[in-house]
Amino acid sequence: MAGIAKLTPLEGWIKQKIGLAELSLPALRAYQKRMLISTFVYVKERSPFYRHLYKDISSSAIQGPQDWEKLPLIRDKNVREQATRMLCVGQDKIQRIVTLDSSGTTGVPKRIFFSKKDQELTVDFFANGMTTMTQKGDKVLILLPCKRPGGVGDLLAKGLERFGALPLKYGAVDDCEKVVELLFEERPQVIVANPAQMLLVAYCYRQQVEKGAIPFNLQAILLSTDYVADSLKERLTEIFECPIHEHYGMTEMGLGGGVSCSGLHGYHLREADMYWEVVDQNGKALPVGEYGEIVFTTLTREAMPLIRYATGDKGRFLSEPCPCGSILPRLDKVQQRLDSPLDLPALTEIIFMFDGIVDFQGKLVGDELLLTLFCLEAGHQWTPRDIINALPCKTELVVQYGIPAHMYQLKKRQISLETSR
Ligand SMILES: [Zn+2]
Repeated sequence: MAGIAKLTPLEGWIKQKIGLAELSLPALRAYQKRMLISTFVYVKERSPFYRHLYKDISSSAIQGPQDWEKLPLIRDKNVREQATRMLCVGQDKIQRIVTLDSSGTTGVPKRIFFSKKDQELTVDFFANGMTTMTQKGDKVLILLPCKRPGGVGDLLAKGLERFGALPLKYGAVDDCEKVVELLFEERPQVIVANPAQMLLVAYCYRQQVEKGAIPFNLQAILLSTDYVADSLKERLTEIFECPIHEHYGMTEMGLGGGVSCSGLHGYHLREADMYWEVVDQNGKALPVGEYGEIVFTTLTREAMPLIRYATGDKGRFLSEPCPCGSILPRLDKVQQRLDSPLDLPALTEIIFMFDGIVDFQGKLVGDELLLTLFCLEAGHQWTPRDIINALPCKTELVVQYGIPAHMYQLKKRQISLETSR
């Protein structure tokens, strides 16, 4: 299989960052081991949180990945409650603070701090990751938040400019017709967007083509910020006839984590900036191929390094070599959140198999799912009964037509849980 797909540009980038003439997995692991140890020493010296957390662990006890399991996992709760105590630099070095309020069970917002150097790491990753699907001179329409300096769209645009691509900073989709108008006007080669918003844009685009607008070819689409169902990718491929890449990242990772190569299955990761593990319930690393919780450690972050940060995402490493021929490990498509009351990705897969659905919301009441489907327009080929029959659980279904207002808010899809009616 090797050599069929184009080698991920992350391999050359990582090789260069590490300063190796030849990249091999043992050489990468040796680099990560050195960086793990120096990160441990760095945080223990500078951060009150880590000093306390590791008070009974000496630097000599940490000699590399085999000792990493001695270190406790850090979770969302720690970051919410202890963010400023995690800092390793003075406030004057902080360039950007991202405040996240999603899934706040404690009511305390989560704040992630970045120095100028930390932001540069992200721009560098975006610049190199984007060359997977973009070349110099390509127009790239960014349908992710762009307004804030240092936000995801802004850093992505900076990364693109670095190799001569032309970013069009639109921002998250807030008016589908306007975006589609812009598409026909600018005819970008690449679009970067949230999956559900991209699907909405695709269906609106198709409506225009059906009304007589001249279709055009996209070179690639990159989807980010939420779970990407394979069925949703199929819908997009039907409409735009181009490869659909996926990005895996979260703010805690410094916005970017990994990106699929031209093999389009799983993600290669920022191995020079982060050390990745898939662990069991006790924080013990699992062998390649086994599902567990995705955990990462930042190796190059200055302001707020995260050591063994448990993402809450379920995943595994793929054991088969990547068709692109890279020696870099490959993380399989991220599965459901571990705290999700039902298998949301499985549900998402089924729902987007049906053409014309742009989004859904659900509530689990006892063992019954109350599902609302949002569909751009009537005249679809399926009936609600077809969908109910395809779903694995008892379902009550409502179909609404038009664009639901919540789709312009760019929130992760969730199924709420209600114990009684
Ligand atoms: Zn690959």
